[in-house]
Amino acid sequence: MNTKLPFVTKEQVEEIAKTYPTPFHIYDETAIRENARRLKKAFSWNKGYKEYFAVKATPNPYILQILKEEGCGTDCSSLTELMMSEAVGICGTDIMFSSNDTPAGEFTKAKELGAYINLDDYTHIDFIEKECGVPKTICCRYNPGGIYEVSNGIMDNPGDAKYGFTKQQMADGYKKLMALGARNFGIHSFLVSNTVTNDYYPALAKTLFELAVWLKQETGANITFINLSGGIGVPYHPEQQANDIEAIGEGVRRAYEEILVPAGLGNVAIFTELGRYMLAPYGNLITKAIHEKHIYKEYIGVDACAVNLMRPAMYGAYHHITVLGKENCPCDHKYDVVGSLCENNDKFAVDRMFPEIAVGDYLAIHDTGAHGFSMGYNYNGKLRSAELLLCGDGSVRLIRRAETPKDYFATFDFSGFFELD
Ligand SMILES: *Cc1c(COP(=O)(O)O)cnc(C)c1O
Repeated sequence: MNTKLPFVTKEQVEEIAKTYPTPFHIYDETAIRENARRLKKAFSWNKGYKEYFAVKATPNPYILQILKEEGCGTDCSSLTELMMSEAVGICGTDIMFSSNDTPAGEFTKAKELGAYINLDDYTHIDFIEKECGVPKTICCRYNPGGIYEVSNGIMDNPGDAKYGFTKQQMADGYKKLMALGARNFGIHSFLVSNTVTNDYYPALAKTLFELAVWLKQETGANITFINLSGGIGVPYHPEQQANDIEAIGEGVRRAYEEILVPAGLGNVAIFTELGRYMLAPYGNLITKAIHEKHIYKEYIGVDACAVNLMRPAMYGAYHHITVLGKENCPCDHKYDVVGSLCENNDKFAVDRMFPEIAVGDYLAIHDTGAHGFSMGYNYNGKLRSAELLLCGDGSVRLIRRAETPKDYFATFDFSGFFELD
């Protein structure tokens, strides 16, 4: 018996599926709100604290609206993410524009919205100056290079990552930006993804706070915010221990008191740009077993596939799966749970133990609320699913309809071939 349970029951799903056939993504409004409040509280020691939700994790205006009501802004990295943010009324400095390899026109849109702009590269200074002029407040993304280690070992390899300025470029960049009229500065850095440890943010904070002190000495720049970005993870495996957000907030506070306050930087605002931590656990992909297959292995074929959730195929990522209605049955059957793509990596589980699964059973794939629906695609002519919201009052709301063939064919002119209604 496992202790990781979905937020919907078999009975609920049977009822929902009468209106919205599987597969669908469903999100838990109450849990999203409670989590956002816990995060805010954990950083409430910092006067300017703000979470900028990484839109790419769950780009749905209804989700953005909920987070807006909880005091969050948005982190956008493309034109359409800026447009979605604007559509729900998140504008001005409630937007952080953290893009990289930025196409022409997007800095202009971000500047028009009054967003904080986070430059990914030294050469983007000339690029933005030419395109729309350097804004008064500007942020630069830092890449320390090398290997990033915290107390419990190597976390990642920023030296291989495409993002950010080198340390010297940060100082040179600030000076150049000041010469072009910038007055207030931010620092941003995203070094490790999906960390399941309370040590990452405090360690990153220490790195960035020391950098801020150095940059202030080197350049005299007025540093007003430090953006710790994303990277706080979630326990995808039932055996993993969830992060303790209060401990993380407290760890960052300690580094702040130790490093920034004595350096006269006690007014710096702390920003976060979390995606996964805000949404992943509060979304489930609900799918139905439609086939069983007995060859060299035992397979369960479901009606969702990798286009609905790419992470297992792309990263070999683990997503826990519950067979609804069989939560308390012994896991004594070994299956591969697969989708219908003509790709052998289209597997939600490989050699995993489950209760006996019958055709018609509903499966809840856990932790799909972030980087789930949003990574979807249309390979094999597969269509994107609906997104549903389990509202605070227990009702279910359609927050994005499922695609139809008409959507799939919408981008070319096929008149003369056949008609769709
Ligand atoms: C993806 C991304 C995030 C969010 O990352 P999570 O791992 O979902 O928290 C934040 N900032 C930037 C710049 C990103 O690219």
